[in-house]
Amino acid sequence: MPEIPEMEVYKNQLSKTVIHKKVTGVIINRERAINVEPAVFSELGNDQLIVYVSRRAKHLIVTLGNGYYLVGHLMLGGRIYLAEPGEKLKTQGSVILEFSGGEKLYFINLRLGWLHVMNEEEMDRQFAKLGPEPLSEFFTLEWLSDNLSQKRGTIKPLLTEQGFIAGIGNCYSDEILFGAGLRPDRKANEINPKESKQLFSAIPTVLRDAIANGGYMEKPFRLHDKLTGGHNEHLKVYDREGQPCSRCPGIIVLTTLSGKKSFFCPSCQR
Ligand SMILES: [Zn+2]
Repeated sequence: MPEIPEMEVYKNQLSKTVIHKKVTGVIINRERAINVEPAVFSELGNDQLIVYVSRRAKHLIVTLGNGYYLVGHLMLGGRIYLAEPGEKLKTQGSVILEFSGGEKLYFINLRLGWLHVMNEEEMDRQFAKLGPEPLSEFFTLEWLSDNLSQKRGTIKPLLTEQGFIAGIGNCYSDEILFGAGLRPDRKANEINPKESKQLFSAIPTVLRDAIANGGYMEKPFRLHDKLTGGHNEHLKVYDREGQPCSRCPGIIVLTTLSGKKSFFCPSCQR
């Protein structure tokens, strides 16, 4: 499932390509992916300029000229593709936005994912229970240390809780814990001040590196896109069971914590 880096890479690429473009058509092939009647969705989206593209947690937010927002969550298997004018795709797309220049923005395979049209109040409600953004000024060492000390659970599943810190999932929680040198099965409230500091520093470092490398999504965002997915080869532990550790002579192992897969190096993560 895409996490902050993948959604940030989409956001950055969309900001460069679709802002100030006008939506001239809305195609809905999967009604379950939207939250209102298709006619209402089309009416609110059609003829609107794309004003801004942003992100909150794992959600993409497209601001429309009429003040409404298209809020998308790709969940497992969903992806986004911007097709050139006339470009034919092998896949149908769950929801497609057509632009005045002839480009089409495909939201593909929204089997569990969704693209909802919302006003500001509905969007605020959607995001009300999310924790702080780890790349924002609201995420501080003091906040992290305080909150860790109040949690009895293990650190790996805690990092993926959207109400604790927003936007981190299975992959980057493993990468962050490797970066911090902490085992995924450590109890959150037993993490000492020095380790809190290591964790606090690893979170933005790991996420920013992944964004710079293009995240881990395998499929491109558009033709000739060489950026998307570039971080796959830089992952240190995620999906690397049995492979040598990049930091020590250890071997990466896979364990399960609260039903979540967790990859780590038992030799250098303590
Ligand atoms: Zn190691």
